[in-house]
Amino acid sequence: MKAKMNDGEVELLLQYEEKRQHDVVNLIASENYVSDDVLQALGSSLTNKYAEGYPGARYYGGNIQIDLIERLAQKRALELFGLSPEEWSVNVQSLSGSPANLAVYTALVPLGGKIMGLTLDQGGHLTHGHKASLTGKWWQQVPYTLNKETEVLDHDVVRSIAMTEHPDVIVTGYTAYSRIIDWDAFRAIADESGALLHVDASHIAGLIAGGIYPSPFPYADTVVMTTHKTLRGPRGALIFSRKDQRKFNEKIDKAVFPGLQGGPHMNTIAGIAVALHEAARPDFQIYAAQVVDNAQTLAQALEQKGWRIISGGTDTHLFLMDTWMNGISGKAASDALEQEGIIVNKNTIPFDTRSPVDPSGIRIGTAAETTRGKNTADMIALAERIDDMLRKQIKQK
Ligand SMILES: *Cc1c(COP(=O)(O)O)cnc(C)c1O
Repeated sequence: MKAKMNDGEVELLLQYEEKRQHDVVNLIASENYVSDDVLQALGSSLTNKYAEGYPGARYYGGNIQIDLIERLAQKRALELFGLSPEEWSVNVQSLSGSPANLAVYTALVPLGGKIMGLTLDQGGHLTHGHKASLTGKWWQQVPYTLNKETEVLDHDVVRSIAMTEHPDVIVTGYTAYSRIIDWDAFRAIADESGALLHVDASHIAGLIAGGIYPSPFPYADTVVMTTHKTLRGPRGALIFSRKDQRKFNEKIDKAVFPGLQGGPHMNTIAGIAVALHEAARPDFQIYAAQVVDNAQTLAQALEQKGWRIISGGTDTHLFLMDTWMNGISGKAASDALEQEGIIVNKNTIPFDTRSPVDPSGIRIGTAAETTRGKNTADMIALAERIDDMLRKQIKQK
């Protein structure tokens, strides 16, 4: 932080948090470090402005710059993913990933309708129809799971559930799944069963933008992504929808505002525009490739030290590691690592027999540390440290 604040109490807490973020090794798969430009947009006077409505159709005056900023964010979002404004529309106002999914269902799925989603404990997100989320109260989840042997998606199982249940929407794209998703297979299942295909690319957005993960856009009806994970922008979300006679874009815009929200957070939208610009640069492609290279190197090094990696590896920025198999629970492992300044999160593994509060594994991601310049040699050293700490903890028990 540069300027001195008048509020010393908050300033001190910000300074401590900044120091904490600087000092730890951050392996939280959903976190990243934004650029100074993104921070500047977030901390700008745009936060003072009310702009309910959409560009050219606002409920307040004084929105000349605001309209230009929102349109710029939309243009950059479409360009980054190679989409033409004739075929795709994007809403940049949703406050975060969860409300973005809620907006899509609100727009496109009748209340009480069926949302087919991967269960939370297998790597899906709460907002894919879990009971604890409104998406599982207002709609009915049709759950699917991974293949127990391979721990990857099983399209035969997904197809047979879809053909029996005929969900309104099939959701693919996950929170804790490390493999390439066969978008084409999901498109075929959606067509066969008469469902919409909604892709939640929250985790992999930056990998898709960086060209290291296949794009879902040729296959999906709607795509949601958070802007703050691998995409390395402020907390927020983008909702893309196909523009055709079904008028998804108009329904989604109405679901976001006035359906679920009031005024958009224009400082965030400006920050998103900045992040999209950064993600369009050639160095972001190098970054995305390095993220995956680092994750693969770290997973492999841990595997060589006797740790079981779920599904045997990763194609992305993250992977799950079964710690319970070596005698330490996910919570104990995560706590032990935190003591030494390595931050991960405890996580259920597919078909976990333990509880979500103390599951069998941990989730590890490399997007944040790669932003901080870490390379594969660092990953090998890190695997050594993680292995040492966990084994020490197991011995003490
Ligand atoms: C992170 C995430 C979300 C939710 O994002 P929030 O911004 O935390 O609300 C939704 N779906 C998936 C797949 C995610 O990984």
